[in-house]
Amino acid sequence: MKILVINCGSSSLKYQLINMQNEELIAKGLAERIGIDGSVVKHETIGKDKVSIEEKMDNHKAAIQIVLNALTDENYGAIKSMDEISAIGHRVVHGGEEFSDSVVITDAVKKALEKCSSLAPLHNPPNLMGIDACEEILPNVPMVGVFDTAFHQTMPKDSFMYALPYELYEKHKIRRYGFHGTSHKYVANKAAALVDQPIEHLKIITCHLGNGASITAVDGGKSVDTSMGFTPLEGLAMGTRCGDMDPAIVTFLMENEGLSSQEVNQLMNKKSGVLGISGVSSDFRDIEEAAEKGNEKARLALDLYYKRVTKYIGAYAAEMGGVDAIVFTAGLGENSATSRKEICKNLEFLGSKIDDEKNNVRGKETIVSTDDSKVKVLLIPTNEELAIARETKALI
Ligand code: AMP
Repeated sequence: MKILVINCGSSSLKYQLINMQNEELIAKGLAERIGIDGSVVKHETIGKDKVSIEEKMDNHKAAIQIVLNALTDENYGAIKSMDEISAIGHRVVHGGEEFSDSVVITDAVKKALEKCSSLAPLHNPPNLMGIDACEEILPNVPMVGVFDTAFHQTMPKDSFMYALPYELYEKHKIRRYGFHGTSHKYVANKAAALVDQPIEHLKIITCHLGNGASITAVDGGKSVDTSMGFTPLEGLAMGTRCGDMDPAIVTFLMENEGLSSQEVNQLMNKKSGVLGISGVSSDFRDIEEAAEKGNEKARLALDLYYKRVTKYIGAYAAEMGGVDAIVFTAGLGENSATSRKEICKNLEFLGSKIDDEKNNVRGKETIVSTDDSKVKVLLIPTNEELAIARETKALI
């Protein structure tokens, strides 16, 4: 069985074709500049040369058609015909309160998704465009929607409510939803397997530290709290997002800097985080390099970032009444030994002790804490596409 995983952005479309017999990647690629001049599909069938297909793509349907042509191409393709695709798994950012699990896509589901679009106006509409496009081109192939928010629907009300007037929750569904759920769920389950214990017996804190970053408290396999909220802006400092701050700063900036609501939104999402503090980059590799050369703002950006992660881990350990395992994943979590060490430096009181030698590793599923560490610290590479493919397979 081969499953096509699709992740649609407003002008881009990422895809992977996965063989579910052995869970191996067969082909992957990215369509860029959809609806803009210079559109291109960068395609790679594993074991063959990468190709760039420069072709006009007016919309997502055109992009999907070119992707399918690439997948079935005689020379650089991966399959003989589209009939080999058993199902399509779509990443959908926001499932609101409607979806607490992945779902087979039907007309009723699409209507419900449209309703959630006001909660994620930049993400859900392109996700839906991808679904419509696939439906038109491959009408008989079953499709599944896998939501970034679904895993967090188990959060209790005292975790997901804001201390705002209750009517705002009833009227606008203003509450915390959380994101990166597919990744948190995937690495939490992998962590339980790695420490060889049933997930139902474990309290796990999963740290997804990429360009976007979030932390989740997973108690007995269920998300009970997570750092992102109504939008992905809340929580940790990130590449370009500010994360937690006093909300009064928003009105202060509007009044004193004359910024519009859109401009403040742009500032908090695109110009803040470690980029905003360091003035160097949103990429941690550049910031680490600058800090090593003595750039004080780069040093501050890293220290502030680490401290906030440590703070959340401490908070979630308190919230769950303990922690058995702390998991690091995504770009920074998987690749930066220094970050893992700095974040865990002040957590030894919890019983977690990093082993410097074991921690000197990247991108590999492994335990990086000492053998006598009461709390295990794990590195688990995330694989959201495989997780989506598994959910899709399970549902069809
Ligand atoms: P992701 O969003 O998971 O793709 O993560 C991307 C981020 O991971 C980049 O912005 C980098 O800051 C960070 N990253 C990737 N590789 C490394 C590395 N070797 N050392 C430090 N940070 C890294």
